[in-house]
Amino acid sequence: MVNSKIQAAEENLIHVYNRFPIALDHGKGMYLYDTEGKEYLDFAAGFAVCGLGYGNTEFQEALKEQIDKICHISNLYYHETCGEAAKELNRISGMDRVFFTNSGSEANEGALKAARRYAYTKKTGRYEFIAMDNSFHGRSFGAVSVTGHEAYREPFEPVLPGVKFARFNDLDSVKELVSEKTCAIILEPLQGEGGINLATQEFMEGIRRLCDEKGILMICDEVQCGMGRTGSMFAWQGFGVKPDILTMAKAIGNGIPVGAFAMTEEVAEYSLKPGDHGATYGGNPLACTAVKKAIEIFERDDIVGHVKRTAPYLEKRLEEIAEEFAFVTGRRGKGFMQGLVFSRPVSEINAKTLEEGLLVIQAQGNVIRFLPPLIAEEKHIDEMVCKLRNALKQIQ
Ligand SMILES: *Cc1c(COP(=O)(O)O)cnc(C)c1O
Repeated sequence: MVNSKIQAAEENLIHVYNRFPIALDHGKGMYLYDTEGKEYLDFAAGFAVCGLGYGNTEFQEALKEQIDKICHISNLYYHETCGEAAKELNRISGMDRVFFTNSGSEANEGALKAARRYAYTKKTGRYEFIAMDNSFHGRSFGAVSVTGHEAYREPFEPVLPGVKFARFNDLDSVKELVSEKTCAIILEPLQGEGGINLATQEFMEGIRRLCDEKGILMICDEVQCGMGRTGSMFAWQGFGVKPDILTMAKAIGNGIPVGAFAMTEEVAEYSLKPGDHGATYGGNPLACTAVKKAIEIFERDDIVGHVKRTAPYLEKRLEEIAEEFAFVTGRRGKGFMQGLVFSRPVSEINAKTLEEGLLVIQAQGNVIRFLPPLIAEEKHIDEMVCKLRNALKQIQ
């Protein structure tokens, strides 16, 4: 029944997603339910979006109240939620000025434009970007141009010129690409799509030093690893290495489509000017209510502290799995952004976990990603490990 419904729906959609044969209907806390009533423990959080899990009544009430008031006005007019959400997001991200977008791709698109605009004002003639192998920055042309995976770019070439790719965590490979034309270096402090690759402390510090020495802007893409996921509000804070431009999305709206790029005052002074950039929906009252309320709940409930305290348990349990199964070669990641590395393709594993009622995500390089809502407790981790073990046993 469900399958035929899904098939019927797919006939009207452009086929770009390889969907699993289930139709999800609603959620509660850490769990999602399909149209047949089957329960799934969610360790995917809609791609690291639903930090607060599902059915948070306080969050939902705030949205409902805003919907009843107004959803949208244009950016020609000011509304209070926008200013308040901006102030709060700057405070928790350590940035000074923010622009609201509707997605992570758009946030990166804006960040690249902001970096070029900075160079334009300063008349430096800099336009090149250095990005990392195995990076993922989104699907729009600018974002895809700095994405370090051929499969995402090749069908759409020629993409944005002036982009060079260095090896992640290899500072010398970055230095080799730097020239007097280098405008910005963009990286994820913890690569998600590319297989859960954590930047080393030396690499982050090295990039910062290189940027300072050469007058290059450092852009951190924290669309996936930001907003509490790694056990600090933003991953850069965990390293103590502050970027000049920071991009965000996914969890900042907890399910309402919103992204943002933010910058330091020093960059803002020379960067985008009135008329240079815009987004019709960007930062509308509904999106800003979501951001403001999510931040309020995050802080009051100490979600970040919870992730920091609970992550060692998640790591320990995943490492047990890695020891138990010969085809699991290791664990990597930070906080609630973890991956298990397999010595075989992971697509069959994904199908089995689904049967067991567990949602996880694949990443490049035969990696299974674990991105639970940030409210996951030890009991959920135990349940996840149990389901995962059952799934893996069927594969052995
Ligand atoms: C998901 C993701 C993006 C793209 O975000 P969209 O909202 O899908 O456009 C960009 N960067 C990173 C690191 C991501 O994980």
